[in-house]
Amino acid sequence: MLLKNKKVAIVGGGPGGLTLARLLQLQGADIKVYERDVNENARVQGATLDLHHGSGLKALEVAGLMDAFKATYRPGNEKGRVIDKHANIIYDEHNEVSNEDFNSASFRPEIDRGPLRDMLLNSLEAGTVVWNSQLLRIWQVGNTWKMEFKNGTTATADLIIGADGANSKVRLLVTPVKPFYSGVVIVQGNIENAEITAPNIHQLLKDGKIYGHGDQKYIHVSSKGDGSIDFYISCKKDENWMQTSGIDFSDRVQVCDWFKEEFPGWDEVWLELIENSSLPLLLRPQYCIPSDQTWDAQSNITLLGDAAHIMPPSGEGVNLAMLDALELCECLVNENFKDLQSAIAAYEERMRTRAAKEAEDSLEMVQWMHAEDALNKIVQMLNQ
Ligand SMILES: Cc1cc2nc3c(=O)[nH]c(=O)nc-3n(C[C@H](O)[C@H](O)[C@H](O)COP(=O)(O)OP(=O)(O)OC[C@H]3O[C@@H](n4cnc5c(N)ncnc54)[C@H](O)[C@@H]3O)c2cc1C
Repeated sequence: MLLKNKKVAIVGGGPGGLTLARLLQLQGADIKVYERDVNENARVQGATLDLHHGSGLKALEVAGLMDAFKATYRPGNEKGRVIDKHANIIYDEHNEVSNEDFNSASFRPEIDRGPLRDMLLNSLEAGTVVWNSQLLRIWQVGNTWKMEFKNGTTATADLIIGADGANSKVRLLVTPVKPFYSGVVIVQGNIENAEITAPNIHQLLKDGKIYGHGDQKYIHVSSKGDGSIDFYISCKKDENWMQTSGIDFSDRVQVCDWFKEEFPGWDEVWLELIENSSLPLLLRPQYCIPSDQTWDAQSNITLLGDAAHIMPPSGEGVNLAMLDALELCECLVNENFKDLQSAIAAYEERMRTRAAKEAEDSLEMVQWMHAEDALNKIVQMLNQ
């Protein structure tokens, strides 16, 4: 096998990195995952997401984790409501019959990020993930990579896989191509114990999702299995709005004032999100890869997931990261490749082609979701 006697380091224990670790361990490879989080409970994992046939679910199937997934996913949680600024329900998926057929390609079961991560972590050999390992620097000594982490430790590897997300450090060793700003900032928040703390939004949410549109802005709300809700507010802003707005997003009064000014005429129910969210709210300017990005494959380093192809959320990001993991694993263990460089080149070619198409689609989505007729467009789409 191409990986025989090779030490493989995966930098980043997100869905992409952990899926790859599991798949490669099943093939007998020597794997370590270096993860920035101090431990597995270090931060609240984000909102719920849906996994798709042909990508996320396919990777779980090959990883032997479909039974674990079926025991963990959240039936019915995929149902959404399109709601206008006045809190009118314009379209309601709760009126439709659920599709819970894992054999149907249109079934997109939901799982919370936290349980997805736990499931992948539990599938790994003990000690695979090295927590509290934020990569600061990588350099080569002969044929070996040396890594330095923020906690002062170092480690070596023969092959490095950058699965370290949007602000990837590993990416800098693979390509100088930089993602560009998409024009949209997401303000993200989380509300604990929503039934009590935000009862009106909780009721509107009905344990599913809310797609709120109006005035060229978008509010996405989703329920989580632990009784909390996660939301993001998406609006068009300058790239450096975070620095120039002067708003302290850890100050309740300031964020409420910002919301009222940004969303004039919106129903009071929306304000409930801001009034009850844990603080600080997180600001996430959205970046996207150029669809023509390319680079020459190397023999001992590559990328997957957001590190390779960050783009505004379109419901595909986790699925793409998990499919990258599957295809990278298949290439790395394929004896028909004469060496690791050929295996990595074949993987990267497919990965970049797929990501380029999805990046274009996600930018198109950003445009229409922040256009005047976004509400009609989403209803049309759901009707189809
Ligand atoms: C608001 C929002 C909503 C989204 N909604 C969806 C959705 O509904 N469905 C969907 O499929 N996708 C969604 N996405 C996209 C999705 O979150 C990403 O595409 C996906 O998480 C990428 O997985 P990954 O494993 O490549 O990276 P990540 O999930 O970002 O994981 C990277 C990991 O690397 C670690 N790390 C980072 N830097 C370092 C370092 N220097 N050293 C060590 N470790 C490091 C991080 O702690 C993290 O654990 C959304 C994104 C956003 C911003």
